Amino acid sequence: MRVAVEFGKSKIYTAIIANIHTTAPTAYEAKDIHQILDEYPIVNEIQLKHWEWISSYYMCTLGEVLRAALPSAFLLESETNIELYQGFASENELSDDEFLIFEALQHQPLLTIQQIMDILGKKTVFPIIKSLISKNAIVVKEQIYEQYKPKLIKYVRLKDYYKTEENLSQLLSSLNRAQKQREVILAYFQLQTTKKPIKASQLQESSGCSLAIINSLADKEILEYYFIQTDRVNFDGSENSLKPLTSFQQTAYHEIIESFTNNQTVLLKGVTSSGKTEIYAKLISEQFQLEKQVLYLVPEIALTTQLIGRLQVYFGNQLSVFHSKYSMNERVEVWNNVLDSKSKAQLIIGARSSLFLPYSNLGLIIVDEEHETSFKQHDPSPRYHARDAAIVLAQIHSSKVILGSATPSIESYYNAKQGKFGFVELINRFGNVQLPEIELVDIKEKYRKKRMTGHFSDSLITAISEALALKEQVILFQNRRGFAPVVECETCGVSPQCPQCDVSLTFHSYSKELRCHYCGYKQAMQQLCGACGSEKLDTKGFGTEQIEMELNALFPDALVGRMDLDTTRGKYGYHKIIGQFEAQEIEILVGTQMLSKGLDFANVTLVGILNADNMLNFPDFRAHERSYQLMVQVSGRAGRAEKRGKVLIQTFNPYHQILQQVSTHSYEEMFKEQIDERWQYNYPPFYRIIKLTLRHKNFLKVDDAAIWMGKSMTLVFGNLVLGPSTPSVSKIRNYYIRNLILKIPQKNSLSKTKNNLQKIINSFQVISEFKSIKLTIDIDNY
Ligand code: ADP
Ligand code: ZN
Ligand code: ZN
Repeated sequence: MRVAVEFGKSKIYTAIIANIHTTAPTAYEAKDIHQILDEYPIVNEIQLKHWEWISSYYMCTLGEVLRAALPSAFLLESETNIELYQGFASENELSDDEFLIFEALQHQPLLTIQQIMDILGKKTVFPIIKSLISKNAIVVKEQIYEQYKPKLIKYVRLKDYYKTEENLSQLLSSLNRAQKQREVILAYFQLQTTKKPIKASQLQESSGCSLAIINSLADKEILEYYFIQTDRVNFDGSENSLKPLTSFQQTAYHEIIESFTNNQTVLLKGVTSSGKTEIYAKLISEQFQLEKQVLYLVPEIALTTQLIGRLQVYFGNQLSVFHSKYSMNERVEVWNNVLDSKSKAQLIIGARSSLFLPYSNLGLIIVDEEHETSFKQHDPSPRYHARDAAIVLAQIHSSKVILGSATPSIESYYNAKQGKFGFVELINRFGNVQLPEIELVDIKEKYRKKRMTGHFSDSLITAISEALALKEQVILFQNRRGFAPVVECETCGVSPQCPQCDVSLTFHSYSKELRCHYCGYKQAMQQLCGACGSEKLDTKGFGTEQIEMELNALFPDALVGRMDLDTTRGKYGYHKIIGQFEAQEIEILVGTQMLSKGLDFANVTLVGILNADNMLNFPDFRAHERSYQLMVQVSGRAGRAEKRGKVLIQTFNPYHQILQQVSTHSYEEMFKEQIDERWQYNYPPFYRIIKLTLRHKNFLKVDDAAIWMGKSMTLVFGNLVLGPSTPSVSKIRNYYIRNLILKIPQKNSLSKTKNNLQKIINSFQVISEFKSIKLTIDIDNY
C-alpha cells in the first residue's frame, strides 16, 4: 500500500511499502509512517517483481521505476501543485475540509500540498486530496500533459410528475394550443421506444423544432436536462465478429498455437499487409474466452488511430487505451479499471508505459512492430526496452508473447533462428496482392542528364502524374522535417549554429525561422550572414517543407498534405491528417518516418522515397538494418488493395547492398550480411553493450571526468572498453557530452560485470570535483 512519509521537518512524500521486516535500521533513526493512504493496495506483487527486475537489469533505482510506472496523482508530495477541475459543480458533496480547499482554489489558481496543510492547519491532508480527486473536484497540475476536458453530452427526460397516465393526458390536452411543444413531446415518446437515453440534439432533430421550444418545456418543468460524461475512449458502434481467416492466416494461426506449447515467445514475421492484425484479433478473443487480460504494445500510440479503430470494431467496450498524452485523470481511470480487472480494460492498447499497469491475470502480450526503436526509452531513467521487459513480464505471469513484424529486428530474428523464440512466417499479402514493385532511380545520372526538377526526378514526376490521373493517392517520404537542415553563407561558408547545441539550425520556411531540432531553440531567419554580412545565403539539404513547396509548384491542382512533427502537435493533430487522407481530401501526403507506421490506405498505389542516402550514411552500427526496415515499411503502404503498388527510391548510390535488398525484398540476405558484421565487430546479439554518458556545462570538467572513468574502467575490463569519445553532436542544451562504451561478450556474466561497473561508479561519485557531472547508464542501447 501507499504511505505518506516524512523527510526532514516538513517534506512529505508518497512511498510504497514493498516489504515488511523487523530488522531495525542501524545507520539512521527511522521515522514513523505518517499515514497509510490506501484501503487496499493499488500495486500488486507481480508488478513489484517486474519493477525489481527493471531496476536491477537497467541499473536504476526502484524509485525511478516507480515514478515511471505510477500516474503522478498516486505520488503526491509536499511540492505537488493542485488546481481546480474545470466543470466541477457539486460543492454540496464536499466535506468541510474539502470545501475549504475548494474555496481557496477559487481565489488562487494553484495550491501546493504544503499550502493546503497550512490552510487546514494539519498535516494529514493526503486523504482529503485523494477524495477531492476522486470526486473530480481538483487535479494534480501537470505541465507536460494536455488538459483533459470532459465531454459532456446533454440529455433530456420527462419530469417524474408526468410519468403517471393521468398527469400525462392532462399535459397533452393542455398543450393542444401549443402545437410545437406538443410535437416535441410526441417525438420524445417516439424516441423513448428505443429505451436509450435521449440526447437533446436527437430530440431537436426528430421533432423538427428549434432548441428554444425544448428550452421552454424545460422552463415549464415538463422536461428536464441532464448531462452524461461520454466515455473517454469512445465506442458507439456495435461489436462485430472477427473476419474469417484466410487459409494462409489459418495455417499461421495454428502454427502459433502449436509453437506456444513449447515456446513462451513466438516471432511472427509477416510481410506488410499479410493480415497480422486479424491473427492477433483471433488470439485476443481466445484469451477473452479464458477470461485473461491482453496487452497490445505498439511503438507509439498517437500513430495508431487506425489500429484502435479496427480493434474497437471487434472488442468495443473491452478495450482501453493507455496513452501518455492523456491527462492524469484518464490514466488513473485506466489504472483503476485494470486493477479491478474490469471487463472494459481486458484489452489494453498502449505504448511502452502500459507495461506498468496492475495486471493480475495476463494471458498474452502482443508486441506489434517489434523492430521499432521507440520501444526503447532513452530518457529519463529507467532506460528500458519495452519488448524485452514485456518478455520478462510475461514470464512472471506465465503468459505468452507474440512479436510481430514484417522486418524483425536482427536480435529477434537471431533469437528465433537459435530456437529461443518460436517462429511463424506469413509470406502472402491478404488477397494475394503482390508486394510492390520497387524501382531504384539513380539521381546522380538524372542530375547529369538534367532530368531533375528541384528534388524530383522525371521518373517520379511521371509516376505521380499517372497516379493522380487515375485518382489514386501518393505517399512521399523524406526523413527530415523543416525546409533545409543547413543554411550556409556563399561568401564565407559560415552556417548559423544553435547557441546551446553543437548543430546547425534548420530553416523552416513557413514560420521564417531557424530552429534547433535538439533543444527547440528558435530565431528569425536572417537576411544577412551573421559572420560577414553577405546577402548570399544558400540552403543545403532538404526537408518535408521544401518537398511540399516543390509539389505545389509541380502539381498546382493536387491536394498536398504534410505529416511530420511540426504538423501533428497535440493529441488529435495526427488524427486529423490521417482522417483527411482517408477521406481523400489529400492526394499527395509528404512526411517523415511517421508514415511508416502501420497505416492502411486502400487507394495508395505509389510511394516515393526522395533520398535514401542520408539514412544509409548515419554513423551507427544499426543504420543499415534501420534503413532496410524503414524503406520496406514505407514501401508497404503501397498497393494494399487489388492493384499492385509501385515504389520509387531516389538515390545517388543504387548499387548499395541495402537498396538492392530492399528492391528485391531480400530480408534473409540483409540479415545474413548484418549478422556477419555484428559478429565481426563485436556487436549485439554477440556482445552486450553498456553505454555511459557524461554531461557537464564545463568542457574541461567533462573531459577530466571521462578520462578518469575511462582509465578506471580499462583497469577492470581491459580492451572491452571503448572511449571516451565525443559524439557527433557533442553539445546539447549547453551540456558537453562524452561517451564510454562497454562491450560484454556473451560468456561473461552480465551481473558480475554490472557489479564491477557499479563499484567504479560509486568511487566516481564520491570524488568531489565530479559531483556535478551528470552520469547516465544505458543498458542494451538500441
Ligand atoms: P498487416 O498487419 O500484416 O500489415 P493488416 O492486418 O493490416 O496487415 O491487413 C491488411 C488489410 O487486409 C487490412 O485492410 C485488413 O482489413 C485486410 N484483411 C486481412 N485479413 C483479412 C481477412 N481474413 N478477411 C478480410 N480482410 C482481411
Ligand atoms: Zn558570410
Ligand atoms: Zn539547440
